[in-house]
Amino acid sequence: MAALSENLLVTVNKLQDLVFNTIGNDSLDLPQIVVVGSQSSGKSSVLENIVGRDFLPRGSGIVTRRPLILQLINVPSDRHDRPEGDEVHIPHTAASVAGQYEWAEFHHVPGRKFDDFAMVKQEIEAETARIAGSNKGINRQPINLKIFSPHVLNLTMVDLPGLTKVPIGDQPSDIEKQTRALILEYIAKPNSIILAVSPANVDLVNSEALKLARQVDPMGRRTIGVLTKLDLMDHGTNAMDILSGRVYPLKLGFIGVVNRSQQDIQSGKSLSDALHAEVDFFRHHPAYRNMANRCGTQFLAKTLNTTLMSHIRDRLPDIKARLNTLMGQTQQELASYGNKQFSGKEHRGSLILQLMTRFASSFISSIDGTSSEISTKELCGGARIYYIFNSVFGNSLETIDPTYNLTISDIRTAIRNSTGPRPSLFVPELAFDLLVKPQIKMLESPSQRCVELVYEELIKICHTCGSQELLRFPRLQAKLIEVVSDLLRERLGPCSTYVESLISIQRAYINTNHPNFLGAAAAMSSVIQNKQEQDRRAALVDDRRKREKKRLKELGALNGNAPASPEDEEEQSEPKAQSIPIRSQSGRGARSMSPHFGKGQEGGVTATLNGSYTNHQATFGTANTTRDSFLNYFFGKDGTQNATALSQLPNQSRQYPNTNEISASNGIRRPDLRSPVIPVEDLATPVEYPGDVGASLKEDSEAALSEREVMETELIRRLISSYFNIVRETIADQVPKAIMHLLVNHSKDVVQNRLVSELYKEDLFAELLYEDDGIKAEREKCERLLDTYKEAAKIVGEVL
Ligand code: GDP
Ligand code: MG
Repeated sequence: MAALSENLLVTVNKLQDLVFNTIGNDSLDLPQIVVVGSQSSGKSSVLENIVGRDFLPRGSGIVTRRPLILQLINVPSDRHDRPEGDEVHIPHTAASVAGQYEWAEFHHVPGRKFDDFAMVKQEIEAETARIAGSNKGINRQPINLKIFSPHVLNLTMVDLPGLTKVPIGDQPSDIEKQTRALILEYIAKPNSIILAVSPANVDLVNSEALKLARQVDPMGRRTIGVLTKLDLMDHGTNAMDILSGRVYPLKLGFIGVVNRSQQDIQSGKSLSDALHAEVDFFRHHPAYRNMANRCGTQFLAKTLNTTLMSHIRDRLPDIKARLNTLMGQTQQELASYGNKQFSGKEHRGSLILQLMTRFASSFISSIDGTSSEISTKELCGGARIYYIFNSVFGNSLETIDPTYNLTISDIRTAIRNSTGPRPSLFVPELAFDLLVKPQIKMLESPSQRCVELVYEELIKICHTCGSQELLRFPRLQAKLIEVVSDLLRERLGPCSTYVESLISIQRAYINTNHPNFLGAAAAMSSVIQNKQEQDRRAALVDDRRKREKKRLKELGALNGNAPASPEDEEEQSEPKAQSIPIRSQSGRGARSMSPHFGKGQEGGVTATLNGSYTNHQATFGTANTTRDSFLNYFFGKDGTQNATALSQLPNQSRQYPNTNEISASNGIRRPDLRSPVIPVEDLATPVEYPGDVGASLKEDSEAALSEREVMETELIRRLISSYFNIVRETIADQVPKAIMHLLVNHSKDVVQNRLVSELYKEDLFAELLYEDDGIKAEREKCERLLDTYKEAAKIVGEVL
């Protein structure tokens, strides 16, 4: 039983060592004896007596100012003449047992063995002052001291500052509160045995030690009462009532001791002498001699030892359970750092491969929107790419004005230049080509911006792909990002080149045969329709005026007054505003170039010419001029073609069944810039257009020419808008497809292979698996902790 007990304590000491040395905190809450009592009650004296050595600082006032965790470790004597009779073992002085090796070690001075106990005392003083300062303040950080001796029983004890009621000197005013809190912290632990020291020469009801102990151990289950200074009791009084447990009930009882008096210390009385004297005191004291074997320091030491043993035995299951909990927690923490061993070469490779694969699939799933960590706060990944295509790119295309920067004079100049010295025969195709190409070029910048935005988004995605585990390997993460960024950058060039060529392709051939292209006929007829509308209104006004004039004449004839010239009024009443057709920035519907201008004339086709031709007869009177123009194709030289007919068949006008004419200028079919074929029945319709305009045109040839040019200019404008809308629609469709194919999908497809081929190289492994210092330290600390707990569990397991 005794052997087992000793074993237990060895176990607990080992655990204590393990815990204190590796963890530095008291998470295991190991059993220990905590000494409490008021100032000068004799706590330090009791401890010294138990150890059998002078090693604790003494003096007036508060000397013990930091907790002292004192581990007594029994080491076998190396001499065969070592003292026997363990029952009452009296430690020898260093001199008396020369060769018996006793020494002390401080946790804060690792590796140094103190065999001079005067030095131990000094070290305690110095260490106390180092942390708690040289004033009289206290500090809760413990000093850890081990004493190895053949003369001690295995015990772990804690010496605490004594309670003082009144601060003295420069002690803080709340010194009592501080001390009380510190003491309570130690004795409140259920695994502590409380050694409540009370001096026998003070009434027990005033014992601060018992008052404190009762707070945390009201049933007196783990409190041992120690009565000091029995030698100082008044003559004729004794502490028998207390020692027998009749005054104050404690399960573990009271033990009386006699320590050295202050005088003994000053006179240099050795501890061994004092212990002998103590034994004599109890053996010869009239009151205590019958219970002498249950009194004194040696009995106290033994009692403490056995109490501690049984306490430890009681507590071991709890300790085991606690250890298991701690191990589980630590294991979990460790796992969060990536609890993978990767020392082996194959191991490192597979770890890298695994992290790489995870990175790649995270990249892909972020784009696909299948990532598990989808943000609800902002658009991310694939959704942002869609947003870029649809909203950013779409809108930036929409806002382009097809005739931006194209002034009337630009167009006029282009028309004039393209016809050369000859008058233009048809709609000046060259001018149209010349003018529409730079406009198409305007689509390039938003398209390239779209490529860049998607590229930037992909870069952003690859920066957010790292898993928690990857944080542990910052270099690997940086490399993964670098490789993916390189890949994306590589694709950026081809993608933007392709997009550039998409625009160039559009500029390479102006396909006026496109089914959605408005065409000259439609554009013209829309102009004409407009014009007719206006003419009708003008005719009505004219009619009214004539009737008015007639009435006025009649009235004038009656009154003899001449009326004002009606021609002047006519000039003023004509609307003067000339609307410039600029494509309104509008919704999607506006973009589609509808040839069905007959119904509603929505979007870009709706631009009208109203009120700009005060002399419509001059405008449409080109039939009789010597100068041919494309207008002839609408109205015919003989004036048999009917403009109204054109406006009535918008759908047919774009089918052009037999328009196989080859444009003289470039040999490419250009049917709809020429005259559309008009169905016969429409051609038969009577001409409404006045045939007598030739005369007025000749009269004012300069003005008539400019009118014509305005007409041409407006036509070109409309045609440019119409054509531009077609191209815009194509680009809006093609660019996102190109980006998806050349940049996004390609990157997705090759990312895994690229990562492997770039990074899966043995000579890179060490570098890539370089661990972040902070996380590494944390993980290693965690690993050590886990090892400690495992070791502790093993130690505990061996005992039971
Ligand atoms: P602590 O402040 O509780 O650690 O008390 P100490 O151990 O420093 O003792 C305070 C004073 O009381 C010292 O001068 C000791 O010599 C003296 N003292 C302690 N115990 C006894 C005892 O049992 N008998 C006598 N006569 N003096 C004692
Ligand atoms: Mg003390």
